[in-house]
Amino acid sequence: MLNLAIIGGGPAGLTAGLYSTRGGLKDVVMFEVGMPGGQITQSSEIENYPGVFREDPPITGMELMEPWVKQAMHFGLKHQMSEVISISKEGDIFKIKTDSGEVEARAVIVATGSKPKKAGFKGEDEFFGKGISTCATCDGFFYKDKEVAVLGGGDTALEEAIYLSNICKKVYVIHRRDKFRAAPPTIERAKKRENIEFILNATIKEAYGNEMGLEGIIIEQEGKIIDLKVPGLFVFVGTEVNNKVLKKEDGSFICDVNENGEVIVDLKMHTSLKGLFAAGDVRVDAPKQVVCAAGDGATAGMEALHYIQEHFDD
Ligand code: FAD
Ligand code: NAP
Repeated sequence: MLNLAIIGGGPAGLTAGLYSTRGGLKDVVMFEVGMPGGQITQSSEIENYPGVFREDPPITGMELMEPWVKQAMHFGLKHQMSEVISISKEGDIFKIKTDSGEVEARAVIVATGSKPKKAGFKGEDEFFGKGISTCATCDGFFYKDKEVAVLGGGDTALEEAIYLSNICKKVYVIHRRDKFRAAPPTIERAKKRENIEFILNATIKEAYGNEMGLEGIIIEQEGKIIDLKVPGLFVFVGTEVNNKVLKKEDGSFICDVNENGEVIVDLKMHTSLKGLFAAGDVRVDAPKQVVCAAGDGATAGMEALHYIQEHFDD
């Protein structure tokens, strides 16, 4: 039996692994469906993680996360590349069902983060992966010297539009309002780029193309219809939490969540179910920052260690 199962290998899960194993806990496994690092590895730049800074070019998310994995593994954390399907608790013991079997654990930290939301326009699903993407660092290069569009007005949309403007001939930023959610310095940087054009107070009605992929999008801007012929569209309209592992068969959750499905925790990352902790983007009121996810992970790792020492004899 494991002492601790950590679900998710982003900044929160890795930091929980580091703190729990370095604190002396044995048999700690981090279940991560892909390579550890989390969603920040998709980011072309990160300039607000304290103590890690490079001005030009800024460090990438991948560069930031590479040493985290090494550091966490160094103290005994093990990585199992599996998808966790569900978590349940029988008596004092958790059962973790994965795509490769079932394991038992004394405590669990859920650090499954969040994933990109869909915008909901016609053709979004049909052309996803065939011109529509949610990752500029992964797919931007396919559009070298071409025109692309970005949907959204938050930090992700504007940062990734700037990244794409280094590769692509032109980047249209389509936003449903004329005010942005992104941080003011990011808005300023985007506005300074000559090859970024803003299409504001506008929504995408439809994406169209053929079996080869996306050919264009139909935009409605204040009653006017625009047919924008672009082979690439990057959708950055926010995120939703990955809480599926906490769902029971009847659709209810094994611990308390709020109306958006975010896991309710106290300041020590305890959920309403004893021995179950949540950390990072998946929890309620998460600021959705790497530094905050890491802080949550540290707290959850230490709390899980205390919980196990208090509740189990050996
Ligand atoms: P995540 O990073 O989402 O990690 C969760 C992990 O859990 C994932 O690796 C996922 O594969 C895994 N997982 C999920 N479900 C399962 C399952 N069932 N079984 C096994 N594994 C599972 N923040 C900043 O501070 N600064 C920035 O500049 C910044 N830029 C960003 C740019 C982009 C493009 C994006 C997308 C995000 C950015 N963020 C930034 C936000 C930051 O990445 C997140 O706040 C942070 O990664 C959250 O960490 P986390 O560990 O909670 O979750
Ligand atoms: P976000 O801040 O929620 O912004 C989403 C944007 O998409 C908003 O501008 C929103 O418009 C728009 N939108 C939402 N639904 C839409 C729809 N159906 N159709 C069209 N537009 C739609 O999301 P995010 O930019 O992904 O950021 C998520 C979190 O990560 C935030 O907390 C952010 O601060 C953080 N983050 C931080 C950094 C950084 O610190 N440098 C970088 C990236 C992300 P409205 O504005 O009209 O609502």
